[in-house]
Amino acid sequence: MKAQMKNTRFIFVMGGVLSGLGKGIATSSIAKLLQSRGFNVTAMKIDPYINVDAGTMNPTEHGEAFVTCDGLETDQDVGNYERFLDIELKRDNYMTQGMVWKAVIERERNLEYKGKCVQPWHHIPEEIIHRIKNVGKKSKADFVLVEIGGTVGEYENLIFLEAGRRMRISMPGQVLFAMVSYLPVPSKTGEMKTKPTQTAVQTLNAAGIQPDFILTRSLNELDDKRKEKISLHCSVGIDDIISSHDVDSIYEIPSIYQKQGFDNRILEKFNLKAKKGNLNTWNKRLVDTPRNAKKVIKIGMVGKYFATGDFTLSDSYISVIESLKAAVWAHNAKAEFTWINSEKFEKHSAKVEELNNYDAIVVPGGFGERGVEGIIKAIKYTRENNIPYLGLCYGMQLATIEFARNVAGIKDANTTEIKPNVNNPVIDVMEEQKKKLATSDYGGTMRLGNYNCVLSSKTHVAGLYDKKNIIERHRHRYEFNNKYRKKLEKAGLVIAGINPKQDLVEIIELPVSEHPYFVGVQFHPEFKSRPMRPHPVFVGLIKAALDK
Ligand code: GLN
Repeated sequence: MKAQMKNTRFIFVMGGVLSGLGKGIATSSIAKLLQSRGFNVTAMKIDPYINVDAGTMNPTEHGEAFVTCDGLETDQDVGNYERFLDIELKRDNYMTQGMVWKAVIERERNLEYKGKCVQPWHHIPEEIIHRIKNVGKKSKADFVLVEIGGTVGEYENLIFLEAGRRMRISMPGQVLFAMVSYLPVPSKTGEMKTKPTQTAVQTLNAAGIQPDFILTRSLNELDDKRKEKISLHCSVGIDDIISSHDVDSIYEIPSIYQKQGFDNRILEKFNLKAKKGNLNTWNKRLVDTPRNAKKVIKIGMVGKYFATGDFTLSDSYISVIESLKAAVWAHNAKAEFTWINSEKFEKHSAKVEELNNYDAIVVPGGFGERGVEGIIKAIKYTRENNIPYLGLCYGMQLATIEFARNVAGIKDANTTEIKPNVNNPVIDVMEEQKKKLATSDYGGTMRLGNYNCVLSSKTHVAGLYDKKNIIERHRHRYEFNNKYRKKLEKAGLVIAGINPKQDLVEIIELPVSEHPYFVGVQFHPEFKSRPMRPHPVFVGLIKAALDK
């Protein structure tokens, strides 16, 4: 197959009519389908906003910031690609408008354009194309899926469409375009309407691009009549209009596409042949299990973030949710999530007793003061009542504070993130972060990406991993304060993992004799968990929940 694929092929995925259509899942599913045919596939996301990365945006407005192994804060879709393809992507696999312009402007300042007039319509698409091709080159992929964020016709994604258009001209036979479009169903007529899709294709045409495929997002499966209509008005062959109707599980979409021969059509257009694709194990675990499992695991997510506007908590914590689901499915059960606003525990302490209704409690990452005292109350309750607990990043830091206050007797223990002058900063800002905070140097400056961790032997967590030296992804500025290590250990806290180079505490736990599962990790295991290979700390949590 490799011999056949001398050149990388590029498939652009863009959206029409409205945003939030699931382009990321469409992109991931096309990628998965091609991977199932034996190809080496990668994917990249383009976000048309000015932010240089996704790290400075509010997760309740934009969704989760997904951190790559080499430490870039990217869009949640990059997480979808990693999960669907089970590969690790790099910072190259993400691009924003801000990143592109910044690079061009910096180059101009360094005289690298050798005195030329540097122009948006020439040098910007050139930089975009260079970045897209670079992903193909570095990954040696047979296919690069390129998802362009936003909707066709928006001022801010025009320049990316222009880059795609130029690539198609300069690389004949190597570039295809798929437009994901929306078919509304007006409540009075109950009929799927194709006109907005027709208009979106005209808009794309105005940018010089004729789509090769149209993926129709709608409530119901697309019928022949509407397929014919779209085909006629949009000049796309009937077989190249793919129904991408709503289904229960995002993991079912690759086989929805497969049933319609989408992968075959892509290969035909590129003039390629490949072995048959097989999605059986994928479907069995990720589609059938959640549908058929009898056992339900109730997971309580305790935090402060709640739905605002278009985005919901599940967008803010998509990787955590998918990791938990994967761990539950691996145990042949299905997951039920409840969002628990910690602020209510601040006003009414007794309300924490509702945590007894859950099989496991998770406190995900977070920042700032809001809801924190309520979270600490919730953690205390899970610790004292043997409810399996997993704390991720902030969830680990707050578990440390709770333990310091209520077990080690350090009553005013806190983090300097909330109380900069606290007497007992059991969680303190990292040394290298101090200057960055003092100079308001916030963008992309946290401790980000992969760092090593050595597991302490005979701990609960060490028993979950298959190795002693692990690598995990990070995103934080504050850290367990080593000045309190001895005192907390003496009170019974177990330090289960250490970063060997900086001697930073990466994992805390309680011994199994004390608690069925009480684990806090400074890193974000959710970024490394995969649907078919759930991360050990999630697996451990769910196992404890089932045993309970
Ligand atoms: N706010 C904490 C810190 O910066 C935790 C960050 C997180 O949960 N990602 O260290």
